[in-house]
Amino acid sequence: MILRNFKTGWVEAFEQKIQTLLTLFPESKVLSIKRHLGMLRIEIEAIDKDRQYVINCVTYKIERESARICEICGKYGTRRDSYLPETMCLCWRCYALEVDALDQADTATISN
Ligand SMILES: [Zn+2]
Repeated sequence: MILRNFKTGWVEAFEQKIQTLLTLFPESKVLSIKRHLGMLRIEIEAIDKDRQYVINCVTYKIERESARICEICGKYGTRRDSYLPETMCLCWRCYALEVDALDQADTATISN
């Protein structure tokens, strides 16, 4: 799985699309896929400029869409940074749960 480092929301939304892209351009190479400022950042290297153009168009679209899809559950999300160690794209519910989990981790650290 290409998006193995990410949760269900983004995996369900984008894994198959990226797989299809790599099937269409089997000679291309995934350089990196990471979260950057709460959205996916995808770098795929093609063997020539024309293929690179097509791949960049698709990855750009996926990156933009990832800024609107909760990376945990797949519902509508926005990029949030308050109380989080890193900007993430989350719906309200997942955001609350995420902050809550961090809060409890903090409390556990303090009481130890
Ligand atoms: Zn969510």
